[in-house]
Amino acid sequence: MSTQSSTKTAPKLAEQAVNAFHAQLRGELVQPSDAHYDEVRKVYNAMIDKRPALIARCKDTSDVISAVNFGRDNQLTVAVRGGGHNGPGLGTCDNGLVIDLSQMRGIHVDPSNHTVRVEGGCVWGDVDHATHPFGLAVPSGILSSTGVGGLTLGGGTGYLARHYGLTIDNLLSVDMVLADGRFVTASATENSDLFWAVRGGGGNFGAVTSFLFKANPVQTVYGGPMFWPLELSADLLRFWQDFILSAPEDINGWFAFATVPPVAPFPEQHHLQKMCAIVWCYTGDPADGATVLEPVRKFSPPAIDFAGPIPFPALQSMFDALYPPGLQWFWRADFFNHYDDKAIDLHVKYGSQLPSMFSTMHIYPINGAAGRVGQQDTAWGYRDAKFAQVIVGVDPDPKNNERITEWAKDYWLALHPFSAGGGYVNMIMDEGEDRVKAAYRDNYMRLAQIKTKYDPHNFFHVNQNIKPEE
Ligand SMILES: Cc1cc2nc3c(=O)[nH]c(=O)nc-3n(C[C@H](O)[C@H](O)[C@H](O)COP(=O)(O)OP(=O)(O)OC[C@H]3O[C@@H](n4cnc5c(N)ncnc54)[C@H](O)[C@@H]3O)c2cc1C
Repeated sequence: MSTQSSTKTAPKLAEQAVNAFHAQLRGELVQPSDAHYDEVRKVYNAMIDKRPALIARCKDTSDVISAVNFGRDNQLTVAVRGGGHNGPGLGTCDNGLVIDLSQMRGIHVDPSNHTVRVEGGCVWGDVDHATHPFGLAVPSGILSSTGVGGLTLGGGTGYLARHYGLTIDNLLSVDMVLADGRFVTASATENSDLFWAVRGGGGNFGAVTSFLFKANPVQTVYGGPMFWPLELSADLLRFWQDFILSAPEDINGWFAFATVPPVAPFPEQHHLQKMCAIVWCYTGDPADGATVLEPVRKFSPPAIDFAGPIPFPALQSMFDALYPPGLQWFWRADFFNHYDDKAIDLHVKYGSQLPSMFSTMHIYPINGAAGRVGQQDTAWGYRDAKFAQVIVGVDPDPKNNERITEWAKDYWLALHPFSAGGGYVNMIMDEGEDRVKAAYRDNYMRLAQIKTKYDPHNFFHVNQNIKPEE
């Protein structure tokens, strides 16, 4: 039984109180009677259709403090929205108050210190745009429209994880508003327990108004996808597993089952074919990229080969157009240490049955720099795992929801016995307390203690919820 996004019925709000709250805000307060309410309440996953009583579109930290205080004083269910990408829609709620940070998109790059301060409502494309001219990048994911807030607080795995670690490994501090309305900074030297918890513990501890990241030297990389026929998938998966576990850390490549989109520049003869793929990102000298990936092309020449020199932001946004907002998404995830032959056979079985053009399965390597951080150094629960796996059933048409959901569940059930036990919190649905505990393993108890200290009444509960101790 799942509880994290459960909402109580909103208490009747006095018009006067709402008006007074509205008057405090620099940003808008959107209500169901407003013409653009339906537009503003939408989140990325169209499977989620929640109707908040109020949406505070905060403009600044002062707005966030007012919103937290109003939500608490009026016993409202409160959701904090960053980029709105979350699978189970944990950036919104029914009947309650959404603290929408999407208008808070300021960024300041400090090129001399290699740092970047990012406001809580930015998406990764904002960050890449700001840092790229300085030859810098912060490790994030594989799409530019994902929110910085949710991705970072859950951990963040993507193209740069093997070279520069998870997103949280590059986080230097956060500014945040706690459940009691206090504004605090958390870093290695200030509120260090809170800083430990926000590096993986999700939105459980407060609303983060800004993140300070270390930025790394990344500019033009050698990257992009290579596709092979499905018949090669077992051999490719075996080859890739060995290759990526021993490759230098500046090489990243994630494995996928995918359908070739029926658009240019994909060759027409492969349109709508189910294939296996690896999407590369080599952060060394792009001139060496072809040599570095020579063993891959030697394994078997790819049927489609788009890997080459590419500006990092272009790689990061390569799949944005394929996955616009408004599709139906169903997620399942697990961490893995190793894929043996039985697990590989099951991958081939379910990967060959992708139920729609948009559905896919990805395996992200999390060895290298991400794997060298100690298990207790941050709240992220699986530093020893080698792979983060995600299965997503995706389709534009809600009529196909049963098909994409059943496929993702069956695929996950078949592979789960081979997994390390838990899944990445940012890539699961609303799957209940046991799955949250499995995601954090031995770090869960410390997270619960820190939750008790900073949010004893579980005010921030619309998330992969860590419950305060009784
Ligand atoms: C197409 C797609 C691709 C993805 N690719 C990757 C990937 O490559 N790597 C990866 O690691 N993840 C990836 N994800 C997963 C992603 O990390 C999660 O969906 C994440 O929750 C998105 O964050 P958001 O801010 O957009 O979401 P939201 O829905 O806005 O929020 C998600 C959760 O975070 C909390 N939150 C958000 N911002 C704040 C804040 N400022 N302060 C406090 N709490 C906050 C919310 O309360 C909520 O609980 C992907 C998701 C999608 C849909």
